[in-house]
Amino acid sequence: MAPSRQFFVGGNFKMNGTIDSIKSIISHLNDAKFDSNTEVVIAPPALYLLLAREHLRQGIEVAAQNVFDKPNGAFTGEISVAQLKDSNITWTLLGHSERRVILQESDQFVADKTKAALDGGVGVILCCGETLDQREANKTIDVVQAQLKAVADKVTDWSKIVVAYEPVWAIGTGKVASTEQAQEVHAAIRKFLKSAVSEEAAERTRIIYGGSVSEKNCRELAKAGDIDGFLVGGASLKPAFVEIINAKQ
Ligand code: PGA
Repeated sequence: MAPSRQFFVGGNFKMNGTIDSIKSIISHLNDAKFDSNTEVVIAPPALYLLLAREHLRQGIEVAAQNVFDKPNGAFTGEISVAQLKDSNITWTLLGHSERRVILQESDQFVADKTKAALDGGVGVILCCGETLDQREANKTIDVVQAQLKAVADKVTDWSKIVVAYEPVWAIGTGKVASTEQAQEVHAAIRKFLKSAVSEEAAERTRIIYGGSVSEKNCRELAKAGDIDGFLVGGASLKPAFVEIINAKQ
């Protein structure tokens, strides 16, 4: 029998929002009825992490959008894992394509930060995904596997990792992957986890999809056997985020 993996929905606000708009999103989430089987995490910009933690109701977690791998010291502009823990921020995104592409983060750097976060007790939403050129060159699985292998070489316990498959060509473009396209990559990721980590990691790791997820397409995507939730960008800033959270209902 297939193991039950708790559905997981993350909201990635990216570099959007103000004190007022984030408070208003939070108050909408606090009042909403969620499927109690779904884990919900929002990732506001770093400046608003504490505000979010203070105002969100219990049961909704807060994620940073990034964290550094050094414990403390002269690293201007960075935030440590211990500082996230100290602020009750229990998750972080890592390896988002906007950081890999715009800020040129390497697979190794993402892996080092993933290890540091897990060692410090912060869960990781580990993003991976191919560009359009890579997809058209039939390199999707190779690219995603290389991104995940860098982490698998350093981390054996994947119980606090959620893998977010986000094809770069689908992010913020309105061009969502078809359920078949997403399912194919999710199944390949699970197969990779089985060979590179363990059978247990393959069965238990949540693999969520991101890239133009909306209230219109989420129910169809959620039907796929290997899609265990979503990482939502643009739509997480809108009231319709609640419909995405409840995609399994
Ligand atoms: P999008 O972003 O939903 O706006 O496409 C997803 C993401 O980048 O996490």
